[in-house]
Amino acid sequence: MGTGTGPAVVGKGIRSSGGIILKSGDNQLHIDPGVGAMTKAAEYGVNIREHTALLISHAHLHHTNDANAIIDTMSYSGLDKKGVLIANKTVINGTDNYEPSISQYHKSLLERFIVVDRDQRIGINDIEIHAITARHSDPNSLGFKVFTPDFTLTYSGDTVYSADIVEQYKGSHILILNVPSMKKTESNLCIADAVKIIDKVKPRLAVLTHFGYDMIKADPLYEIRDVQKQTQVQTLAAKDGMVLNPGSYSASSGQKTLQGFKQ
Ligand SMILES: [Zn+2]
Ligand SMILES: [Zn+2]
Repeated sequence: MGTGTGPAVVGKGIRSSGGIILKSGDNQLHIDPGVGAMTKAAEYGVNIREHTALLISHAHLHHTNDANAIIDTMSYSGLDKKGVLIANKTVINGTDNYEPSISQYHKSLLERFIVVDRDQRIGINDIEIHAITARHSDPNSLGFKVFTPDFTLTYSGDTVYSADIVEQYKGSHILILNVPSMKKTESNLCIADAVKIIDKVKPRLAVLTHFGYDMIKADPLYEIRDVQKQTQVQTLAAKDGMVLNPGSYSASSGQKTLQGFKQ
């Protein structure tokens, strides 16, 4: 529900940063409900009341901004306390530099909230979520590796490249990488990093998202053609509102259907 980042992209309404909805069976996870999550959910027909859990990788606005509003909607302003929030330490507790992203009041509307640290595993119904390491300007940043009965999907979160980080992605059918910039930066992945990662992990499908201004200007569609050519892995440049059927990229592939959203 959002594939952009930064004021020059999200701030100008070129792309949203409303996060990713992942459906598996009766579970509906919302990963990183940043700026635009509420409006995009309405636009794409995502019923927030059906959310099972909210996963938040770190405390930056393009990952957390709409979280309180989502919790309010999910729980019908507390009339129906529900949903699990799984978030890093900064999002829930804050640090010297960050206020907590979720208000005390909104925490009270949830069925439960879980502060997760790197390497921690959480089970929700038949899904297992591993909090994995991401290295970024929020010191507690995470990625998530989600194991469903049908497929394994990894979301990098915002991170720089390192060998141990790539190691965690191995065994994923679907790999979603946040690649804001074409060029190397201090706290994020660039196109060259994405190529190295995809080449090592060899997922069935790689999705690049979280585009900043230079990527949008260059056109991500053009950039990923190059990534695909170099890695020989099917690679997509995410677009707001894009719907995928993750079951079709699982090991057994094909027949298991996961509900997508009508646009
Ligand atoms: Zn960030
Ligand atoms: Zn970000």
